[in-house]
Parts: sequence; C-alpha cells; structure tokens
Amino acid sequence: MKKVVVIGAGIAGLITARMLADYYEEVCVIERDEFPSEPNNRQGVPQSFHPHRVQPRGGLIMEHYFPGYNEELIALGAISSHEEKLVVTNKYGTLVNKEDPSSFKIASSSRALMEWVLRKRIQEISHISFLTNTEVTGLLVSEDKRSITGIYTKERRGEKCEKQFPADMVIDASGRSSKLIRWLEQIGLSVPEPEVLKVSLGYSTRYYKIKSSIPNEFVMSDSDPEQGIRAGIFTRIEDDIAGLILFNAGGEEYPSTQPEEFQEQLKHLFASDKIVKLMERLEPVQGPRGYRISESIRQHFELMEDWPSGLLVLGDAFCSFDPIHGQGITVAAIEAETIGKSLEAQRLHPDPQFERNVLLRMQQAIDPAWWLSSVADLRWRGVEHGGPYELKGVDFAQKYINLFTKKAMKKADQEKDNHLFFMQFLMNALILPPSEYFKADVLDMILNDNGSEEEMELRATLRVQDPELYQQKLDEVIPLFQLDYDEEIKKLLETLQPAMS
Ligand SMILES: Cc1cc2nc3c(=O)[nH]c(=O)nc-3n(C[C@H](O)[C@H](O)[C@H](O)COP(=O)(O)OP(=O)(O)OC[C@H]3O[C@@H](n4cnc5c(N)ncnc54)[C@H](O)[C@@H]3O)c2cc1C
Repeated sequence: MKKVVVIGAGIAGLITARMLADYYEEVCVIERDEFPSEPNNRQGVPQSFHPHRVQPRGGLIMEHYFPGYNEELIALGAISSHEEKLVVTNKYGTLVNKEDPSSFKIASSSRALMEWVLRKRIQEISHISFLTNTEVTGLLVSEDKRSITGIYTKERRGEKCEKQFPADMVIDASGRSSKLIRWLEQIGLSVPEPEVLKVSLGYSTRYYKIKSSIPNEFVMSDSDPEQGIRAGIFTRIEDDIAGLILFNAGGEEYPSTQPEEFQEQLKHLFASDKIVKLMERLEPVQGPRGYRISESIRQHFELMEDWPSGLLVLGDAFCSFDPIHGQGITVAAIEAETIGKSLEAQRLHPDPQFERNVLLRMQQAIDPAWWLSSVADLRWRGVEHGGPYELKGVDFAQKYINLFTKKAMKKADQEKDNHLFFMQFLMNALILPPSEYFKADVLDMILNDNGSEEEMELRATLRVQDPELYQQKLDEVIPLFQLDYDEEIKKLLETLQPAMS
C-alpha cells in the first residue's frame, strides 16, 4: 500500500503513525501546531498541562510499537511504577500497596515528555514524515462519493496557502476538536446522532516541587458523589515535580483555580490527612489551572452504510472519555492495534467492507471503557446520558461496584489481602474482562456482608434470591462486551495471578 495521512500528532496520531509504518510505503502526519524544541506543552493539546498516566494495557501496546519507551522516559527522569507506593483512599478506608498492582512497568511523566519521546522515535523512521503548522480543512472525495482520496490543507503561517493532498487512506486522529462530522456533511453524508454523556466535569491541577528524599507515592483519593466529595490524585513526574489534581463531575461547584481555595479544598478529600501533610513539605510552582468538559461524546460512525472507503478515525475524535478514569490513551492504543491487526488480515483476505468493519471492531474496544466510566460518572447529580442508545445496567452496576469496593477495602485492611482491589483495578485498566468481575460467584461472595445497607441496596436491585439464578440475572443486566482480550493480555493477566489469588 502506498500513502496514508494521519491528521493530528497527539498520542493517538503518534501510535497510529508508528503502526502504519509496517503497512504503508509513505506515512505523513499533518499537525496544526509547530513542535516545541524541548519537551513542552503545545497549544493544540490544551489538556497537556494536566498529568497523563497510561494504563498497563495501553503501555503494553505502546511498548510493542516503541520498544523500551518506558525505560527511555525513566532515564529522562520519569518515575517507574515499580518504585512507587500506591495509596488508595475512599469512604471505606485506605489501602497501601508497595508495588503497582500490575507487574508491568509504567513510567509516570508529564504528557509533554511522553509525546516528546514518542515523536523522536517516529522522526527516526525514514518513511514517516511530519507536516507541521498545517491545518486539515476538508476531505477530497471521489466522483461517486464512495472513497476518500485525500485531504485539503491550509498553512497556518506565511502565505497561508491552501493545497490538496492526495492519499490512499486518511486517518483522523485530531482529538476532541475534530471537524470530521462537518467534513462528512460537506461531501453529502449524514452522520448518526452520537451518544453523549452530559458530564459537566471540572479538573484543577497544581504542581509542586518535591524533594527527591520524599518517597514516591501515587495517591488516589476516590470521590463520593453522594456526599459531594471530590476525587484527588497526587502523582509524581520528572524533574522532582508532583502534580495534584482535584476533580468532580455534575457541574455544581468546580474545583477551584485559586491557590488558597484549592489548598482549602484539599482538606475535604478522603486522603486529606495524607495530602495536607505532604503539602507542608512541598513548594507550589505552577497552577492551579482548570479544565472543564461539558460532554463526553461517543460517535457511531460504524452505523453509516455509506461510510466511504479510504477513511478511518480513532482516539478522542471517535470517542472522548472523562479523563479522571485515565482511559483515553489506552483506548486509542487498542484502536491503533485493531487497525494494525485488520490491515494484516486484509493482506490475506481482502474485505470490501474493510473500513466499516474496522470501525465496528474499534467500537468493541470503546465499549467497556465507555460503560465503566459512564457508570461511575452517573453517580454525580446532574450527569445525564443522552442520545438514541441505551446504557444498560447502570443502577445495578453502581450498587455492585459499591459493595465490591467495600469488601475489597475491608479485605485489604483486615486481612492485608489486596486481590479484590486488584480485580477492580484490572477491569478498569481493560485487562480483566468485565465478565470476570460481574459473575455469579463474585456476586455471591460480596452479598455476604452481614445485611449491611450496601448489601440491602444491591439485593433490592437484584430481585433474585436463589444463587443458582445469579448468572442468568447478570447476563440479563450487564452488557455483553466483545473487546478482544488476546494472548498477550492473557499472559499479562497470568503474571498478575499471584497478586489476584
Ligand atoms: C485534562 C485531561 C487529562 C487527561 N488525562 C489522561 C490520562 O491521565 N490518561 C489517559 O489515558 N488519557 C488522559 N486524557 C485523554 C487524552 O488526552 C486523550 O485521550 C489522548 O491524548 C488521545 O487523544 P488524541 O490523540 O485522539 O487527541 P489529542 O491528544 O487531543 O491530539 C489531537 C492532535 O490533533 C491536532 N489537530 C486537531 N485538529 C487538527 C487539524 N484540523 N489539522 C491538523 N491537526 C489537528 C491537535 O493539534 C493535536 O495535536 C486526558 C484528557 C484531559 C482533557
């Protein structure tokens, strides 16, 4: 195959470009920004101010395409998850784990450094080129409108020349601000209504200088929407810097971007004791700076029977997530891998419906992440799910997860046994299939909670007494997820078995 264009050099665009280099003679990444000459934030990715962490499944795929990238980040000062103590606090207690729940090493760095390392790697590949300061403004289409044959571009500097750029395949990785819907409409196609999570979320991040003598800790302080308690995340990155994120959804009162108010709000987190004590030893250096998102949007392009050949889309342009769950990069990596596997299969058995079937497979990757993050966000008053699609089992899953969390924290606290917590972590990290978490024997185990309020709430939604009928009920209530958990993921899960048993 000849020439492919990737729109956008964000994380999805970079992983995709690397993957495409195995299949195309020429890969061109078109980016509206100029790249910084050092690892710095860019205007085109305003979220890059905020810490970005990759889940192990995403990290595994990135290691495949960029071997040793985690080590390279660590050599540049990023923090290895193997050198980090994990602290999780919620309404049921505190869990301290000396190691990351996954044996897989993840480097904790700024987003700018992560992009820098991936970009440098790509710049070494001779048949990948970057065209920067160039905005994609539309799609070139064949006369019968069935195929995309390239793109229109406009320079952002100098003469601001407009050009046509022919290509055999165009892949949109231009993120939340993607104009793909407008471009499709301009060529006469109508796009199905998307699924929308009206989430009204607010982030605020402040950075601190941290002495290298202070031990590395990754602190996750869970939210409790019922009590209006925000989530807080404390994470260390390169250059002896630590970031503290405050988060809530529902739009009632966003986390503050005023230093004094921000420090005050820290006192109301579940992990406030720990965080306030830490803060006394840190010196603020940047922020707090906010980020607000009114809607997470999941497109359903795969439903378009007239979806043109020569066009694909992935990353935030296809589906954007609430960032507090840290799934965006991992889903983008799975999507890029899905395109790669489909291109491999296409060599042997060409599929005339290639693009639509790839979109469908990517949708299977989006499915569990979208459902799990929606289930969590819908606990906040004011968050709503909209669009002509059903979100199954939300109420039941919320009560199930709540009781499971209570059990997991109790086991960790009283028996120093973290395996239930790991199960939950690994499902959210898209390593453990939800069917292994929402299953009859697990349900039976968590329901044994001395008639607690959480147990009664779950029983009331379950409406089944006989444990023999649990699996049937779960199959009815919980969606059937079809994300592929391939051999590599199964192997990764096996390496985690000691932690899970
Ligand atoms: C506050 C916040 C925190 C986050 N934290 C995490 C986290 O911890 N973990 C995680 O996995 N995810 C996180 N995410 C999500 C993550 O940023 C994205 O999911 C991930 O970067 C993939 O996005 P993308 O590559 O599709 O888009 P982006 O990263 O937004 O990149 C899009 C690129 O396309 C370029 N572009 C846009 N339009 C055009 C055009 N017309 N022509 C040319 N170029 C164009 C932009 O300049 C940009 O470079 C966070 C998001 C936010 C908002």
